[in-house]
Amino acid sequence: MADDIRRNIDTVRERIAKACAGAGRDPGEVEILAVTKQVEPPRIQQAWELGIRLFGENRVQELVRKMEAVRFPVKWHMIGQLQKNKVKYVINTVSLIQSLDRPSLAKELDRQAKKLGRTVDVLVQVNIGKEPQKGGVAPEEALSFIETVDRDYDSLRIEGLMAIAPDVGGERSRPYFAAMRRLFEEAGGLRAQRVRMRCLSMGMSADYDAAVAEGATMVRLGSAIFGERKQSR
Ligand SMILES: *Cc1c(COP(=O)(O)O)cnc(C)c1O
Repeated sequence: MADDIRRNIDTVRERIAKACAGAGRDPGEVEILAVTKQVEPPRIQQAWELGIRLFGENRVQELVRKMEAVRFPVKWHMIGQLQKNKVKYVINTVSLIQSLDRPSLAKELDRQAKKLGRTVDVLVQVNIGKEPQKGGVAPEEALSFIETVDRDYDSLRIEGLMAIAPDVGGERSRPYFAAMRRLFEEAGGLRAQRVRMRCLSMGMSADYDAAVAEGATMVRLGSAIFGERKQSR
């Protein structure tokens, strides 16, 4: 099993390097976040021993359980839809919340951050394919959403954008990633206090080559690292 993870991570790194070479990018610009859905701490540790430092979960309960079980120094990201009443369980322990997708969540994050006397780093999730079953702000509303959050919630720092492309497979996702990259550049040009646009989190196991070719600075990989899950969710 350890060998599987090693082989998988080697493959991921090779494919990222190849996509970067094709796009004239430096592979050092692309971070790998390992998604640990249905993966238990021993295998998380194997990935860590192979140099992976960023881990993510899409459900609060699993995230909290694994944050407590994993004792070596990793950074955890919340990558799934976040209910307001669960903010308190993650706000002070995760290093990045990738799924800011609505004003009411921004308000609650800001409120809890102020209680803790700290700032909180977030990505704005964009529903780039406008799919009703997915979270994220509509692409045409993303810039005004960012400006509003920046103006109204001074304990939040927007570090970039996150997207889950429609499940169309590989190369066919490229137009969505290209659209995200354009938004990322536009957002970087806003006159805003606390917007830094350093992270463009896009690309999963089925489409990360295309995402990297279009400018992703972070790919979120579950099955490409740990193998197929029993069922997707
Ligand atoms: C599950 C998940 C991933 C990883 O999915 P894979 O297809 O296994 O790579 C990435 N991002 C989010 C938000 C997820 O929920």
